Amino acid sequence: MTIRHHPHEETLLAYAAGTMMPALSALVACHLALCPRCRAEVRRMEMIGGALLDRAREAALSGKAVGGVLSRLPQASPEAGARPRPSRQGVLPGPMTRHLGMDIEDIPWKELAPGVEQFKIKMPRRGGDLRLLRVQAGRKLLRHGHYGSELTLVLKGAYRDETGEYHAGEVADLDEDIEHRPRVTDDGECICIIAGERHPRYKSLSLRLLRPFYGY
Ligand SMILES: [Zn+2]
Repeated sequence: MTIRHHPHEETLLAYAAGTMMPALSALVACHLALCPRCRAEVRRMEMIGGALLDRAREAALSGKAVGGVLSRLPQASPEAGARPRPSRQGVLPGPMTRHLGMDIEDIPWKELAPGVEQFKIKMPRRGGDLRLLRVQAGRKLLRHGHYGSELTLVLKGAYRDETGEYHAGEVADLDEDIEHRPRVTDDGECICIIAGERHPRYKSLSLRLLRPFYGY
């Protein structure tokens, strides 16, 4: 499996710095379980963070300026510590199975529309919005935007939208200003994890009014 779509560098940096909302952070952890390249990158960022702190401490003690740390740090290598950790069933990544305490076949899906089911994952207050979505082959979702950024990690199947085509293991990292209408490819059902700072923003007034009842 070649992963072509990864989270943006700023997203990985926020994850490494621990400044990310729990919902978004959970999704990145799931991607890292599947992607050796991003695991190596996050490890490198954590080392930079640690090295900068060490240098700052030294500088504070010796009175010298902090400098030259970045140029001496090792480069990320996709091979470094590559340990693929697929879940038992091969669909839910390890961190998600552990968080939910169940595997894909035990998920109590709730139908949103014909061929579209979701499972909303309980998050702490202000922890963001995290959900699993299962969509049948060929189905189109409604056009929507977002309040804040939205991350989607494909676990099974594939979908495409205005920004590209996403397959298992790949992440769509969308900014607030992007509106899109995802469509699942005809090859089979698509299961993905979607994390947002808040719920999706639908254009249609009737959908906005129904949202509290259906929780989409
Ligand atoms: Zn990656």
